[in-house]
Amino acid sequence: MQPIPFNKPYMTGAETAYIQAAVASGKISGDGNFTKKCHQFFEEKYGFKKALLTTSCTDALEMCAILLDIKEGDEVIMPAYTFVSTSNAFVLRGAKIVFVDSEAKHPNMDTRLIEPLITARTKAIVVVHYAGVACNMHEVMRLAQKYNLKVIEDAAQAIDSYFENRPLGSIGHLAAFSFHETKNIISGEGGLLAINDAQYAARAEVIREKGTNRTAFFRGEVDKYGWVDIGSSFLPSEIIAAFLYAQIENIDRIQTRRKAIWQRYHTNLASLVQKGHLQVPELPAYATNNGHIYFVWCQDLAQRTALIAHLRSKQVHAVFHYLSLHNSPYFADKHDGRAMPQSDFFMDRLLRLPLYYELTDAQVDYISEQVASFFA
Ligand SMILES: *Cc1c(COP(=O)(O)O)cnc(C)c1O
Repeated sequence: MQPIPFNKPYMTGAETAYIQAAVASGKISGDGNFTKKCHQFFEEKYGFKKALLTTSCTDALEMCAILLDIKEGDEVIMPAYTFVSTSNAFVLRGAKIVFVDSEAKHPNMDTRLIEPLITARTKAIVVVHYAGVACNMHEVMRLAQKYNLKVIEDAAQAIDSYFENRPLGSIGHLAAFSFHETKNIISGEGGLLAINDAQYAARAEVIREKGTNRTAFFRGEVDKYGWVDIGSSFLPSEIIAAFLYAQIENIDRIQTRRKAIWQRYHTNLASLVQKGHLQVPELPAYATNNGHIYFVWCQDLAQRTALIAHLRSKQVHAVFHYLSLHNSPYFADKHDGRAMPQSDFFMDRLLRLPLYYELTDAQVDYISEQVASFFA
């Protein structure tokens, strides 16, 4: 049989036609018709006050750090169990990163641990909705209000997911999404900055356009454009936006299939969970599932390593995920020394199973059987 990869980017079929249309239009730099259509889609479907396509989620996070005027010595609170970019975007501005441990039953940041970490220098809380499952945003927004902090949602994995019926990415002051080919909706590389606090909207356009007011100029709001602030080139070309538009037109179909695969794993593996072989996350009542990742956790690192090897021998490519950032080679000597036992727990034990649109029910059943055969 053919090996089953961990991920396979799904093309809806319209991508190349839309790219051809962008090319035929004669305008392939950023902020053309496809970009506008993408912005409108995200603003209408998820209620973001303003949506701006970016070249990646990493870039959207870097824009957030600039927008919040993060400076040397400012403190930013975020989970230790996350991708490098969550943290790196703020380190680039000189921030001191204050890591928070994960929950016991989910890799998401344990929001009950945040308050004692807040100091006079704290500027922002960055939440990561791991696997598209919402953090406790009530608690995070309550703290933000009480201490006058800004909240950024790293919603890289969280497109089309909800916290108590509110779309993720629409709750914090700012949010960043990713369209990297490993995410649910893709453009190869790509991202989105969602702005929910209108005070950031005008400056975000400037930062995204190399520190110029070019966007306002093209709307006819100013009669010449020039250098007005710091910035960089954070906008993607129309070729990327054309690709992305073909994806978002099909978002409901993609999400329905991904969630069905997630549910099929969940049903198939329930008996292994009952026998105590594996653990799976439970969704909090306030969160939805967007079918981004199906993950389980093993008893220990040795068991996970053996299970990955077993699945490999059965042509199934399952993978672990983050290495806790607090003890990463770059950050270890900058960390304040607090232990992050739950982040380390998931670092050692969490395993992700293949999940992509074209994965068939028969393949999901086969993978589930191979997981079971490991424990038999
Ligand atoms: C994928 C991911 C990113 C980075 O996204 P890019 O678009 O590749 O820059 C950042 N944070 C999290 C939590 C991610 O999963």
